This record gives sequence, structure tokens and C-alpha cells, in this order.
Amino acid sequence: MNILILGAGQLARMMSLAGAPLDLNVVAYDVGSEKIIHPLTGEVHSSTLQQAIDNADAITAEFEHIPDDVLTLCCQSNKFYPGKAAIKTGGDRALEKALLDKTHVECAPYQLITEKAHLIAAVERLGKPLVIKTCQAGYDGKGQWRLKSDDEIEQIWSEMADFIASGTDSAPHSIIAEKMIPFDREVSIIGARDKAGNTVIYPLTENQHTNGVLTLSVAGKEKAAIQEQAERAFNKLAQELDYVGVLAIEFFDVQGTLLVNEIAPRVHNSGHWTQQGTHCSQFENHMRAVAGLPLGSTELLRPTAMINVLGQPSIPQSVLATHDVTSHWYGKTAKPGRKMGHINVSADNLHQLGERLAALAEILPEEDYPGVANTSTQLILN
Ligand code: ATP
Ligand code: MG
Repeated sequence: MNILILGAGQLARMMSLAGAPLDLNVVAYDVGSEKIIHPLTGEVHSSTLQQAIDNADAITAEFEHIPDDVLTLCCQSNKFYPGKAAIKTGGDRALEKALLDKTHVECAPYQLITEKAHLIAAVERLGKPLVIKTCQAGYDGKGQWRLKSDDEIEQIWSEMADFIASGTDSAPHSIIAEKMIPFDREVSIIGARDKAGNTVIYPLTENQHTNGVLTLSVAGKEKAAIQEQAERAFNKLAQELDYVGVLAIEFFDVQGTLLVNEIAPRVHNSGHWTQQGTHCSQFENHMRAVAGLPLGSTELLRPTAMINVLGQPSIPQSVLATHDVTSHWYGKTAKPGRKMGHINVSADNLHQLGERLAALAEILPEEDYPGVANTSTQLILN
């Protein structure tokens, strides 16, 4: 079967790797160069986008910021999953909030902003501090402001006004203000839904962000009650979107109550641990779902942690000498802060996982790999 993926980054690469044993042939559409390429080698194919669409049995996406005309073309083929509405919702925080309100899934209190009066009203109604985000662009904490005092309103508004003004009639820009949530931690749920509406859901993952970017995830330490809460949200949202494929939902955990932060209509960085922690990774389940194949087991095999490799020229080979460590390199050119690869480490129990993270912390400097040493101490003490 032939699968076309919109986007040619590491997520397409890992979907392609997961699809190969299933006899799924993957090509990727690089939105920047507008070329069809091989997702592993980068080799450019001679086919046009339309030819790749015609040749595909199923089409999917690795990210949500896809040009509208490309999305429309793919949808016309009736082979595109998870569908235009899901991709649009994941790429626009205003649509995302509307979906959450409609399905009665809790999120941070918010206000949409298109003019200065709305910002002033948001400060009055929601209080300070506020997290202000662009609705349509932004990833890894980009396109965000933190408003802590009234003196900052003028400066932040002028930057917001520039973003709003840069929108067009066909692609208008807006802003959202959210109450700053004093969360205890961040977690995410990842699951897959097939064409018949069956779902499989992975164990909840605890995520650590540094400067707005995911640095470390741990799976395998969650209690049933919080897992059930996350699964309820997942099922409501996946059903409302008539979703097909892998869907990720990020939450704030506030004293055991989950508030949705973001919805990602795709495989997600916080699910990379599933490559070693489960029988069927998020990448394989996404490929299975869009190809119309039965979904695979999401059961946790072993507690697993994932460490992001950000901006580094390579992954130190010595990490592979630690038990049950795998390294995943994306083959991209290094830039400061860029997601270059990740390291997965599994263990028989959480204590052993802590010991293995301690061994990795000896190799991986804290400034480049924040939180590894700290997480290892916490796992060992618990
Ligand atoms: P991603 O790469 O996950 O798509 P993003 O740029 O879309 O990131 P968010 O996930 O919305 O942005 O925010 C990045 C981080 O900023 C969050 O993981 C969280 O740590 C913090 N943050 C965002 N919104 C809030 C909020 N309302 N209250 C407190 N912290 C927040
Ligand atoms: Mg996020």
C-alpha cells in the first residue's frame, strides 16, 4: 500500500520506518520545497503532488500548519486522514477552544482577542498573569507572551497588533489570552482511532518542558483515576472529530484535575517512548489506522523515559552502553534548540528506570539535557 505524508520531518521519517514492516510504502510532501521526497533519504521523486495523491492509497500529515490549497486537494481525493476539520482545529487555538467547549472538556479559562479592548477585558476578567498565544502559528512555545503587570499591556499589544495585521482575508490572524495555570505538572494522552471508530489509548505520559520545549517524558507511573480522566477527554474529542489516526492531547494536572492545554492531530513528541515501551508504537498505530489495518496493542511493556536531543551535532555513542537504551537520530542539520533526535530508556520498574537515568546523567550534561538527573533522583526516591 502507498501512503503519502504531508510534511517531511522526523515524524514522517518515523512513520515511514514503522510502516515498512507492514509493507506500507511512504513518500513525503515537503511543504517548503513543494517536492515529493523519500522521508529517510531526502531523495527527490519526479512526481508532482497531484500524481502522489493519485498514487496514494491513504494520505496523512505530520503537522497541522499545511497550506489550505494542499489540504483541499488532498481532501478531494477522499483518502485524507484524520480529515480537514481535525487538522484545522489542531492548527488554530480558537477552533481548538470551541471544540473543547462544545464537548465539555475542561481547559484553561480564555478570551479571544482581535482588538486592544479585548486584551484589557481579558486582564480584568481572567486576572494576571496571563499567557497570550497566537491562534494560528506557533510551536515549541514560539508566538507567546507572558503578561504579568499592566505596564506590559502597551508593548505586548503592539507586538500582537503586528501579528493580527499580518493575517489575510483567507487566513485571518487572531490571538488568545489564557489564565496562567499553576499546574503541578504536565501530562499527555495519546491514542489511535480506526475507521470503524475503535480506539486504543496509551498510558498517560508525564512531560517536562524547558523554555516551552519538551525535554523529557516518562511513561508508566500513572494511577488509574487520572488515566480514566484523560481517556474520557480523548474519547469525547476523537468521536466529535470522527477522527482516524493518532491524536495527542496535552494537559495541565492541577491537583489531580486535568485541564486541556493543546490538541495535536498527529503523532506527538511526547509519544516517542512508545517505540520501546509498547508493542505497537504511536507511529505504527497511526500508519495502521490510516491504512485501514487493525490497531495494535498500546499496553505498557516496561516503564520508559524519552530524552529529547536539542541542537546537538550527534548523540553520544556511549549512551548505548547503558542497559535498554535506544537512540533515534533524525538526520537533520544541527541548529540551536532544534529537535535533532531522542533517546529512549526502559527498565523493569520505576526504581531501575531512575538508576538508568542516573547513568545517562553522567554522560549527558545538565545544560544540554535538563531534568535527567533530577528525574532519576525522583524515581529512585519513590
Ligand atoms: P507545542 O510544541 O507543544 O505545540 P506550543 O508552542 O504550541 O507548544 P503550548 O503547548 O500552548 O505551546 O505552550 C508551551 C508551554 O507553555 C506549555 O507546555 C506550558 O508549559 C506553558 N503554558 C502554556 N499555556 C499555559 C497556561 N495557560 N498556563 C501555564 N503555562 C502554560
Ligand atoms: Mg504544547
